[in-house]
Amino acid sequence: MIQPVNNFPTWYEATTDRGGARTSLRSTVKADVCVIGGGLAGLTTALELSRRKKRVVLLEAKRLAWGASGRNGGFVSNGFAEGIGNVQRRVGLEAARALYSLSRHGSEYVRREIEAGDPTIKMGEAWIVALRHRDNGDLKSYRDMMARDYDEDLQFLATEQTREKLNSTRYFESIYNPRALHFHPLRYALMLARRAEAGGATLHENTLALSVQRQGQDWRICSAGGEVIAQHVVHCVSSLDHNIHKASGRAVVPVATYVAVTEPINQDAVRTSAAVADTRRAGNYYRLIDDGRLLWGGRITTQVSEPSRLAEQMKGDMLATYPQLGNPRIEYSWAGLMGYALHKMPLIGRDGDGQWYATAFGGHGMNTTAMAGQLLARAIADGDDEYRRFAAFAPQWAGGQLGRIGVQTSYWWMQLRDRIDEARSG
Ligand SMILES: Cc1cc2nc3c(=O)[nH]c(=O)nc-3n(C[C@H](O)[C@H](O)[C@H](O)COP(=O)(O)OP(=O)(O)OC[C@H]3O[C@@H](n4cnc5c(N)ncnc54)[C@H](O)[C@@H]3O)c2cc1C
Repeated sequence: MIQPVNNFPTWYEATTDRGGARTSLRSTVKADVCVIGGGLAGLTTALELSRRKKRVVLLEAKRLAWGASGRNGGFVSNGFAEGIGNVQRRVGLEAARALYSLSRHGSEYVRREIEAGDPTIKMGEAWIVALRHRDNGDLKSYRDMMARDYDEDLQFLATEQTREKLNSTRYFESIYNPRALHFHPLRYALMLARRAEAGGATLHENTLALSVQRQGQDWRICSAGGEVIAQHVVHCVSSLDHNIHKASGRAVVPVATYVAVTEPINQDAVRTSAAVADTRRAGNYYRLIDDGRLLWGGRITTQVSEPSRLAEQMKGDMLATYPQLGNPRIEYSWAGLMGYALHKMPLIGRDGDGQWYATAFGGHGMNTTAMAGQLLARAIADGDDEYRRFAAFAPQWAGGQLGRIGVQTSYWWMQLRDRIDEARSG
């Protein structure tokens, strides 16, 4: 398993009471389903299976939501890491519409679970995606296409309107998405965990699944301290383990991205409570959070080690957009690992041996993990086959180390093209 990209405390951990660790697996237990991985994909799957009266045991190598699920930007919106235009080019309009609609069910699920459980998990509504170069008509065409083909009600903001909300000359036109929301992902994940347990699921922390083997009709999943004998096994390990399920593991590239949180600041820069992202190919994403702090995310690399001087680099990115921020102290900074397939769509399905997987949600996992958990729970408990809509995006080898170098090179190329576009806009 890939080691932590950092152990620095995140702002999310600092504002959450996890309580004591759940027990690790110490014996042989039987279950209907064993879920491997306690991020949002695994937790949603476990919750939805327990709601369908399945006996579930979940194994998490560290603490629940220790991975990307508890340390991300917290933006929830419809769609996928891959743009819907590219999805449509690959599978056609009708299939792309069906997939987009599933992604919307994921967002609606998150909203419903928060409202029914703990409304304080929600931190704000709406999302602005701003251009860092002048629009050449693409944004309005995009808005029109999303309304016409995907029933998505997006609003176009001219440069002056954008700058009323985002006080930076770096920005030009933008898209305002009133249906998005942003939230506290760690508290959300732990709420799902508590609900799954209330429904009868058993969640083990500090339990690394080491192997999965057939045992008659069942699966035998071993950890160092015990084993689970289960009718079904579901792999939800993202890019953190390439060996436990080779068919999906070899198809996922780990991609690191970074977040910094300032001290509480008085500022006239971000004038909106909406989440914000820019349309750079390797873009920034940020939002105001409790007591006036700015949470700023950005930078993507395929290197999985901690970049030194992370806090200073992130501050440099903030000031390049908003020099009026002065010199805010960075109180938290951390890295996280996403998992990407080469086609940038989630990998959701069942392999030839009968093992289930839900992985590779990329930088768009808040709605899509919710979607995947529901799809797989329905498939396992009710025999529903809607998950097969993802068959067009099957796992394919990502090229190992060479693949990572290719992806890193393409990020550098994207960053260069961003700079060229911005230089042209003056
Ligand atoms: C910094 C950052 C910002 C992001 N911002 C956003 C955002 O704003 N909006 C959005 O939609 N998405 C965002 N994402 C992406 C999103 O967080 C992920 O797509 C999503 O959380 C993936 O969930 P997961 O359950 O697949 O993986 P993870 O959350 O990584 O969970 C996988 C779990 O599996 C466990 N595991 C691995 N191997 C084993 C094993 N052998 N045995 C037991 N357990 C194992 C790990 O310990 C881990 O807890 C961001 C990601 C990062 C890193």
